[in-house]
Amino acid sequence: MIEDSETRTEGRFSKIFDVCIIGSGPAGITLARRLGAQGLSVGLFEAGDLVATTDSQELYKGTVVGQPYFDLDSTRLRFFGGSSNHWGGWTHPLDSYDFVPNASNPLSGWPITKNDLRPYAAEADKILDLPRYENPPDFFPVQQNSLVARFFRFSRPTTRFGEKFHDELQVSRNIEVFYNANLVDLRLDADKHAVSQAVFRSYKRDDPFTVKARTFALCLGGLENPRALLNFTNDIPVGLGNENDLVGRYFLEHLHASLGRLVVRKPMTWMLVYGPTTQMMKDTQTLNFGMRIGDPDQWNDGEFTGEMKQEPACALDFDTILRAEMAGEEPACPAHVGEAFIVAEQQLNPNNRVKLGGGRDRFGQRPMELDWSLSDTDYRTLKTCAVETGSLLAQYDVGRLKIVDWLLKGEKPTLDQLAGGNHHMGTTRMSDDPKTGVVDRNVKVHSLDNLYIGGSSVFSTAGHANPTYTITQLALRLGDHLIERLKA
Ligand SMILES: Cc1cc2nc3c(=O)[nH]c(=O)nc-3n(C[C@H](O)[C@H](O)[C@H](O)COP(=O)(O)OP(=O)(O)OC[C@H]3O[C@@H](n4cnc5c(N)ncnc54)[C@H](O)[C@@H]3O)c2cc1C
Repeated sequence: MIEDSETRTEGRFSKIFDVCIIGSGPAGITLARRLGAQGLSVGLFEAGDLVATTDSQELYKGTVVGQPYFDLDSTRLRFFGGSSNHWGGWTHPLDSYDFVPNASNPLSGWPITKNDLRPYAAEADKILDLPRYENPPDFFPVQQNSLVARFFRFSRPTTRFGEKFHDELQVSRNIEVFYNANLVDLRLDADKHAVSQAVFRSYKRDDPFTVKARTFALCLGGLENPRALLNFTNDIPVGLGNENDLVGRYFLEHLHASLGRLVVRKPMTWMLVYGPTTQMMKDTQTLNFGMRIGDPDQWNDGEFTGEMKQEPACALDFDTILRAEMAGEEPACPAHVGEAFIVAEQQLNPNNRVKLGGGRDRFGQRPMELDWSLSDTDYRTLKTCAVETGSLLAQYDVGRLKIVDWLLKGEKPTLDQLAGGNHHMGTTRMSDDPKTGVVDRNVKVHSLDNLYIGGSSVFSTAGHANPTYTITQLALRLGDHLIERLKA
């Protein structure tokens, strides 16, 4: 059942749900379906409408300080389905070594391993409409010690969670969805060890409504999860789960930057992606990355599957194509000319964080201030990747790369030169130790018995992989944990 909370009647929320999930993006909807399928009663509460509205979207406004970043109300969507309404569908699981500490990234590593997520891969593939894995294309003639080829899969047609699961949720017997329901507080029980009720507001009415449940799951997205916890100060003045001043800290993005234009000897028939070997990361004291080689105009098309178009056919020799590219001419042979584009892991930094700014929104919540910067290790990762790629291309004579000036000169990049990927991670990170993480290995807030967190804010370390695949696996895993706990 899907219901507009504006039309709620007196006593509508008198029942006690097994699980109250707040936020209907990939994390919230995946968790709800997993729990509903096992007979648990679920209330799924969404701040926005079934379609985008200005009333809801403007509540995502905030301020950015530090490294230039996207406007906070354009880097996510606040309605049914969340940011899956405009995600690009790029997917990759985390690498097994992302879960292990990297000496160049203090505090890195997860309390769980890739094996803990593996059981959820097949279901995540289904949910995200992914094709089967294939061997990654590679243009180096032999296996070298620095770069390994990777295969990216694309969600096609791109899974829009709200659209895809609307009808199933509409007829669900166990899941009740309420939209136009803005979470404005979580109240604790008398001993302050558990959440007893969630408080919501809709847009057209002044009266709040409260919802009771045995368990609560916050799935508001990687920026909004910490903002909400920091705002909820009625019972714990420093904010929920924030006893160790960690909520909002360790914000992570994936650094997206063009490393330069390249010309390759053999035409590209498929987008190439390379990551570093663990040996390379160790030797150069750098972090993980995925370097994409191809034509961004093609891969930014919403229907891109990895295949590069081969038009027009080309009979020119390599040197002529290279000279034309060096002279800045239109490529006569597009399949030989492309861009090396890095998507890099970022180092953990407690000062990269979501904080609360001044003023209040229409529901009395303080707005977000996002403070973001790059470390020396971040820059070293970008530059090492560029130089290593350029060297290998020349060494094996498979192509040539012209590295961008700002990177070689060590200049601070503009937002056009380096951006994030709208991937908001790390702000309620997972750790076994409450002094280094907000949630435990079951994504339960350390200091509260029944508050769980879904989404990429729980990532302990970012790796290079786009986050939604891992978010989906984690939501399925959380579902299984709650089923076991609540049915016990
Ligand atoms: C332009 C763009 C392209 C992207 N491309 C990719 C990609 O190719 N691959 C990839 O892996 N990822 C991509 N992402 C990121 C991806 O969209 C997110 O990782 C994913 O949507 C996060 O899922 P989520 O459920 O954690 O959060 P969200 O999708 O943000 O959902 C959170 C939900 O919570 C609701 N909510 C917020 N506040 C409240 C409140 N107070 N009360 C009640 N409800 C609330 C919101 O309305 C929303 O529905 C992209 C993002 C953008 C913006």
